[in-house]
Amino acid sequence: MVRVNRYFQDIWDTLKSTMIGMRITGKYLLRKPITVQYPDQRLPIPDRYRGIHYLEQEKCIDCLACARACPIDCIEMDAIRHGKELEWVSFTLDYQKCMFCELCVYPCPKDCIHMGTEFALVVEDRSELNYDLLSFKGMAVDARVRMREAEEKKKIKEAAKAAKAAEKAADENDGEKGSGSDGGGEV
Ligand code: SF4
Ligand code: SF4
Repeated sequence: MVRVNRYFQDIWDTLKSTMIGMRITGKYLLRKPITVQYPDQRLPIPDRYRGIHYLEQEKCIDCLACARACPIDCIEMDAIRHGKELEWVSFTLDYQKCMFCELCVYPCPKDCIHMGTEFALVVEDRSELNYDLLSFKGMAVDARVRMREAEEKKKIKEAAKAAKAAEKAADENDGEKGSGSDGGGEV
């Protein structure tokens, strides 16, 4: 008799738990879904999210302040200076080490390195996680124009200086000749 009771009790428990489960399912069935079809769709990302960095390269002055502030040395940069202008070789950030602490962002005097909202670090090889943040290599077009203009101005200035020096030397020569002929008259 106990076994028969147990049998019916089990049937009742099964039906009851199924009904409870279906009630929860039914409650959510007509609600708007909160899931999105990633990566085709994405949930909005808060502005202060600390994702993959981005660099406003035109503003960067290669001062190394961000690299020095990084507690785990994951920023390295290389640029050649042409007077005031920069020729960029690389600006790498190693995401194998980065802990997204944002300490590199605050000391930047030009406010040109930022934490972005991109988060997908999907690569096939770990070495690919050493990202180059440069958007272009070499010199920016306007930097090249500025450099050329500065060189031309320098050439003009040097030519004017040379002309002035030549004029001065000619005046001095004329003076010497004049005084030489005067001296001859007295003798
Ligand atoms: S977020 Fe932190 S760990 Fe990553 S590069 Fe900046 S300072 Fe270094
Ligand atoms: S601190 Fe700013 S300006 Fe200086 S190297 Fe880093 S990104 Fe460039």
